[in-house]
Amino acid sequence: MMHKAFSFSCIILIVVSFSCLAQTNPGKVAAVKASTSKTNKAVVDNHPKLIVGLVIDQMRWDFLYRYKSRYSTNGFNRLLAQGYSCENTMIPYMPTYTAPGHACIYTGSVPAINGIIGNNWYNRKTNSSVYCTQDDSVKTVGSSSNLGKMSPKNLWATTITDELRLSTNFTSKVIGIALKDRGAILPAGHSANAAYWYDDIAGSFITSTHYMDELPAWVLAFNKQQLPATYMQQDWNTLLPIATYIQSTADDKTYEATIAGESKPVFPHRLSAITTAKNAAFKTTPFANSYSFDFAKAAIKNESLGNNTVPDFLTLSISSTDYIGHTFGPNSIEIEDTYLRLDKDIADFLTYLDKTVGKGNYLFFLSADHGVAHVPAFTKEHKIPGGSVSDEALAKKLNTLIAEKFGIQKAIITVMNYQVYLSDSTVSQKESIGELIITELKKEDFIADAIVLNNVANAAVPAPQKERMINGFSPGRSGDIQFIFKPGYFDGGTKGTTHGLWNPYDAHIPLLFFGWNIKPGKTCRETYMTDIAATIAALLHIQMPNGSVGKVITEVIK
Ligand code: ZN
Ligand code: ZN
Repeated sequence: MMHKAFSFSCIILIVVSFSCLAQTNPGKVAAVKASTSKTNKAVVDNHPKLIVGLVIDQMRWDFLYRYKSRYSTNGFNRLLAQGYSCENTMIPYMPTYTAPGHACIYTGSVPAINGIIGNNWYNRKTNSSVYCTQDDSVKTVGSSSNLGKMSPKNLWATTITDELRLSTNFTSKVIGIALKDRGAILPAGHSANAAYWYDDIAGSFITSTHYMDELPAWVLAFNKQQLPATYMQQDWNTLLPIATYIQSTADDKTYEATIAGESKPVFPHRLSAITTAKNAAFKTTPFANSYSFDFAKAAIKNESLGNNTVPDFLTLSISSTDYIGHTFGPNSIEIEDTYLRLDKDIADFLTYLDKTVGKGNYLFFLSADHGVAHVPAFTKEHKIPGGSVSDEALAKKLNTLIAEKFGIQKAIITVMNYQVYLSDSTVSQKESIGELIITELKKEDFIADAIVLNNVANAAVPAPQKERMINGFSPGRSGDIQFIFKPGYFDGGTKGTTHGLWNPYDAHIPLLFFGWNIKPGKTCRETYMTDIAATIAALLHIQMPNGSVGKVITEVIK
């Protein structure tokens, strides 16, 4: 460890003197560091060489423990043993989707403040649905598809990665990587050097003109290997003998969906036999997780991340856990196997970081953008209540009632994020129409309550729900009425599962800090997703993001 030779008070002194220097003369930080590094190694040692944020898409907190005895010692178990685990980290807003999750982790803020209120929302000015990272003013770089017309422009706040760039006068390198565009773009922030995501038509990593005009040579070389095609030549068998997967339900269940191109949800998954849209089917395999780590390692090597006079920041989001989870559910052999394989990938990645950046030289954290609900048909098998409901059918039914009573057609434009968006045509009778909608919604078996969104503060709902609704509400982007499902219910079909609600299965996420300046241990005190960026800012002695509402988790700091 780096600090062995120094006393704690000595470190504090150096940190204080360095941060004073940084505040009074920000433009000279890099130069100061570079020159002092020759004479006083301690100054350089006061920051990690690299910060790595690893977000596992759809990872429930309980997955840390559920398969613990089957994990290796060098993956999740190394993080648990040598790192600091915040065991009760909750998402303090709803809806719990991928874009708000990644935005919250890196802005330390909630949708009401950072603007990312869903993966999608409705724009009343343009009368169209908006995708969180869509940006028609930029172009795809790296393929001929439209999948690169993306940027962070819909994100209102800075990220911790932006703040790192600001703090070092833009000499720190920040790179975001994920199969999902939103999983790469939102963490990397506005001022990132690059964000790369997967084009599932081309089977390669792409970016947009927000970041650059052409892909670097190393990305072109990486893409040229066509790794997705190679990975898809093998079939997906269980890592361990299938009979040992006693934590999971039987392999063949009618409520599981299938990988595109397959006809049955069973092992061995004959990936090699899939003939159409193979690059897209690849995303629903654990091999696409390995592929994301392959690309992250290539970025570290070719961009010399962690080999700079100032800290660099790599954000990596692992997306296939989400695709596989939606398809098979959290109690499937597929998910158990995916986590056993992911554990190996994480172990391998940590070893790679040890070798390239150096043990103790990097600050690492692992979290998730949200959890996931059980497949309702599975819980029903065990007499636990729950079900899936179609938002679209709900909207249709309500629109028919409103047309009958008020003579207004299509009063409800859409239902998104468990919110009803009312058309401008309802404006003169908005209150009465709202009342009718709320009365009708409350009649449904699966609905606990429905509330006019701009009046949430006065609603008679439990404080945790109220706080999460307020934190998730932005008047310009959100709908008019929010409905709350009873536990175990969600908007979806009859196969597979999803997430998006305030309930602990969706909102309780893992949070592990590891490496540079991290004290091993754990706490069961309630912490929040919003605390992650504030804690990283405290560790790095940099400004927290400009919309941050999080609190520093002081226990993790050595
Ligand atoms: Zn997600
Ligand atoms: Zn998802």
